[in-house]
Amino acid sequence: MRRRKCFAHPLFKLKVMVELRSKLLNIKSLIFRHQYALGISQWLTKRLAQDTPYFNGTGTSNRKPSLFSSWIEYWKGLTGTYSNELVCAACGCRIVTGMNENEIKAYNATHPEKTVRQACGGHVEAVKGSGEYMIAAICAECNQEGKPLTIKAGSLLVREVAPKFVGKSNR
Ligand SMILES: [Zn+2]
Repeated sequence: MRRRKCFAHPLFKLKVMVELRSKLLNIKSLIFRHQYALGISQWLTKRLAQDTPYFNGTGTSNRKPSLFSSWIEYWKGLTGTYSNELVCAACGCRIVTGMNENEIKAYNATHPEKTVRQACGGHVEAVKGSGEYMIAAICAECNQEGKPLTIKAGSLLVREVAPKFVGKSNR
């Protein structure tokens, strides 16, 4: 039998990839909730009713999420937000996941009117030094140690649960 040629359009393939990644994030969030969240907490996510001051954490770079590959993936999985295009919860700029620095640079060079920044799952705390962290979807500019931020009304935050500690804290 003659092998059939694959006619899948690149955009179709991209769509399938995005859908597969969404499903994977969804499954991970179910496992995570089952493993960690139910036993220790009644709530995991919080939607801000009003603009709220927070501080970006200091010395959090050694904290890694359990199960998820990054904190932004953790935020996406546990909020059920699967789009690669998001908005920074602090400054409101356009942020993206699934693109590396070079791809972002190339995109911004050809789209100067609607530039994007790397999305980060930033550690934010309401009381400076409390270590009670929430994860917010913010841009790389806002994700700077100790920076005071105003997280916008309507933003979803996820409690940091079961972090793993890798390497040394820079605190
Ligand atoms: Zn920002």
